[in-house]
Amino acid sequence: MNKEKIWLSSPHIGTDEMSYIEDAFASNWISTLGSNVDGFEDDLENYLSESDASRSSVCVLNSGTSAIHLALILLGVNSEDEVICQSFTFAASANPILYLGAIPVFVDSEPITFGICPTQLEKAILDRIAKGKKPKAIIAVHTYGMLFEVEKIIEISKKYNIPLLEDAASALGSSFKGKKCGTFGDIGVVSFNGNKIITTSGGGALISKSAKIKKKAIFLASQARDKAPHYQHSNIGYNYRMSNISASIGRGQMKILESHIAKRRITNQFYKSIFKDIKGVAVFKEPNTNYYSNFWLTIICIDKSHKITKEQLRLNLLNENIESRSLWKPLHLQPIFSTYPYYGSTIAEDLFETGLCLPSGSNMTEAQKNKIKKTINKTFT
Ligand SMILES: *Cc1c(COP(=O)(O)O)cnc(C)c1O
Repeated sequence: MNKEKIWLSSPHIGTDEMSYIEDAFASNWISTLGSNVDGFEDDLENYLSESDASRSSVCVLNSGTSAIHLALILLGVNSEDEVICQSFTFAASANPILYLGAIPVFVDSEPITFGICPTQLEKAILDRIAKGKKPKAIIAVHTYGMLFEVEKIIEISKKYNIPLLEDAASALGSSFKGKKCGTFGDIGVVSFNGNKIITTSGGGALISKSAKIKKKAIFLASQARDKAPHYQHSNIGYNYRMSNISASIGRGQMKILESHIAKRRITNQFYKSIFKDIKGVAVFKEPNTNYYSNFWLTIICIDKSHKITKEQLRLNLLNENIESRSLWKPLHLQPIFSTYPYYGSTIAEDLFETGLCLPSGSNMTEAQKNKIKKTINKTFT
């Protein structure tokens, strides 16, 4: 039987991307300089600043991971420094800490937004300070498009004067009290990887509060070339800048971002209606009306006592060629990170044990949704 694959989240191209790419080709601006790089940065700055008097400065890069790496450098992280990082996240949130030879200190999540737990965060900060080393930065992550408790985390970051790096890789378009994700941290990061809410085929952006930081980010991302007629370098440089072709795709994608979000939010409602009558399964939801999630992925948690496990549901879906994926395995349990300090209990661990991400792409058809619904209902009857 030939079953068409239903993806967790696949690229969804609009109508304008190609004309931006053609412009780039026509003008021969197909490398890391060009009007679409500047244009995409403008588009993002306008979008992020819509509801905010203070304008954000955006530097577009070749991935979200490189944006996190540069953000840590710009925040002054050096080798042997400690950096606090939410444990319940994708490895790319923490790998750049290791690139720098710095030390990750992992913190558990709270059970409402699944973002970094304020209580454990403060505990970790106090304990690290008592042990003689004040953490250099805090990496907090919006999980699957849902905001972490931004007000509490910003308050802690200010109280201890430790800068906040906001990993909004999957949260472009999400907001809290109308303020957009990516603008809460001292530096914010978004990703345009193929599976994210919009894509540039691969890419990311570093969001800061000043044109000066943006300029520094562009400098470091373009091999740190000093002003001279020859190649002259006084800093370690990186080749992290976004190409004008990727930025062309991004410009087209910005035009359909809001409609992509609307579709993912409808998909979230679709899953809520399926699980309304299934006992012991919770669909991840916004805690209150201050939170607006792009619902990049809809996730469910199945009670531990339930006779169906997340793995059984995953396999049943897979059998129909429907992709789903376990929630993140916490980083403090990953072999590469398991020797580093961890503050918390078992919230992140329980999420891993019970949670599944369901197909949420903005390009899913009604027929595909019906097939998903049938498979879920069959599993739970
Ligand atoms: C996707 C993602 C990243 C990495 O972004 P890339 O563009 O794939 O490098 C980092 N953190 C989180 C939470 C992500 O979901």
